[in-house]
Amino acid sequence: MPIYTYKCASCGFAQDEMQKMSDALLTVCPSCGKADYVKQVTAAGFALKGTGWYATDFKDSGSKPAAAKPEAPSPACGTGACPACN
Ligand SMILES: [Zn+2]
Repeated sequence: MPIYTYKCASCGFAQDEMQKMSDALLTVCPSCGKADYVKQVTAAGFALKGTGWYATDFKDSGSKPAAAKPEAPSPACGTGACPACN
C-alpha cells in the first residue's frame, strides 16, 4: 500500500498516510483542522530499492596455505646416520 506524505500548509504538520490508490486524498489537517493538508510529491517509504543483496560467498576460506611444516632437522644430520643426507 502506498504511503503518502502529507503536510499541512497552514500549521506545518506533516505525517505519512498509508492509503489505498482508491482512497480519496486527505485535505483536512489532523492537527489544526484546516483544509490545507496536501499530499507531497515525494512518496517516501514505498520505493523498493532494487539493489537486492547477494549471498556473501561463505565458501570455506579455511583452505590453509600449503606451507609445509618445516621438518625438524634430524638430530642425526651430519653424523652419517641421517637418511636425508645419505
Ligand atoms: Zn495543520
